[in-house]
Amino acid sequence: MPQGIVQRVLGHITEEGVTGLLAELIRRPSVAGTPSDCPVFVARKLQDLGLKVDTYSLEDFRSGTIVYGSLPGKKERPCLMFEGHWDTDPVDATKWTHPPFGGEVVDGYIYGRGTVDSKGALAAQLAAIEAIRKAGVRLNGSLSLLSIGDGEAGFRGGALMADAGIGLRTDWIISGEATSLKTVDVAHSGLIMFKLDVLGRASHPAQPQHGINAILQMGKVLGCLEQVKFRYQPYRYFPDFPRIHVNGIRTQIKSFEVPDECSLLFYVLSVPGMTPESALADIAAHLDGIKAVDKDFDYRLKVLPRAWYYWLPPTEAAPEEPVAKVLQSATRSVTGTEPSLAGFYGVYVTGAMLTAHTSPGELRGRPATVTFGPGEFRRAHTADECVSVKELTDAARIYALTALELLG
Ligand SMILES: [Zn+2]
Repeated sequence: MPQGIVQRVLGHITEEGVTGLLAELIRRPSVAGTPSDCPVFVARKLQDLGLKVDTYSLEDFRSGTIVYGSLPGKKERPCLMFEGHWDTDPVDATKWTHPPFGGEVVDGYIYGRGTVDSKGALAAQLAAIEAIRKAGVRLNGSLSLLSIGDGEAGFRGGALMADAGIGLRTDWIISGEATSLKTVDVAHSGLIMFKLDVLGRASHPAQPQHGINAILQMGKVLGCLEQVKFRYQPYRYFPDFPRIHVNGIRTQIKSFEVPDECSLLFYVLSVPGMTPESALADIAAHLDGIKAVDKDFDYRLKVLPRAWYYWLPPTEAAPEEPVAKVLQSATRSVTGTEPSLAGFYGVYVTGAMLTAHTSPGELRGRPATVTFGPGEFRRAHTADECVSVKELTDAARIYALTALELLG
């Protein structure tokens, strides 16, 4: 791409422009599970920029509307997709010192729910497309943007887009999540949900010796669950995985009787090579160890499928993938520092879901998904969530440069 054209595109990216776009998104609250006009704004913006826009609806507010805009190039391939979700975590406004839906700019930072996760990245992607359009550049390849409303949890939009065949006509996905522009995250770990029921025996509380208290039995699991010995090969992008996260415990209080069941929800962040079946067998072996020394210990363990999927399989983009290489060089030319390749520690992204469902069973499936975006991940989901205006603007420049380089 001639330098003159590149400079013309970059000239259309300003701090005011990108901040203004982000403020528009922040001022449209879009807490997951509530209706929002945020996707309407995104769709209209893309239409105004001349993209062909399709919207898809999932059956509930939790997932909401999916916006997919495409800008055909002179040729269909290659095709680069920007992906950024518009749903956010809830807000406890009493803990904020800036209005969570205000988009206030103070001392070089813009504040609001979603600035880090992930409206900042989405605004930067929109600004990059806007600059390419305003500069009147006709790309050789195709550019698209996908924005969904369940990027906080379900990622079902990614599976639906795979079913719609969109993965098959896409070569690379840049998922916009906060990496501080310091890493290009080429790997996404797997996630397997489990439900463990520890079974006891009910009895009258006056005669607990005739019962088995399931809650107390669960205590024996809680103390040592993290010591499960998984069979796995160490993985360079997630050296501290596999890891177990306990995130729910439940029992039924039936008047005063000794409880006969207690359930635990937990998930395993897995590395390539592990499957739901292998992880289940490893956890079961651990529980059988408890059973071997306590004849009263009894349990049921199962993988808990989510709405549209059994588990989230790991994905990896090869380090030599053009999307990873070009993001690295574009970042170096904008910020002066080349980002390293890493694994994404934010659990999962819609782009990875799209890849996993387009190429089932392949670690390096197509399209190749990498995660990269503005903002410090530690500020996601917190009070006074904010992103640096400079970093946000740099992200828009990097996204635009990457699109120009990859799509020519
Ligand atoms: Zn996110």
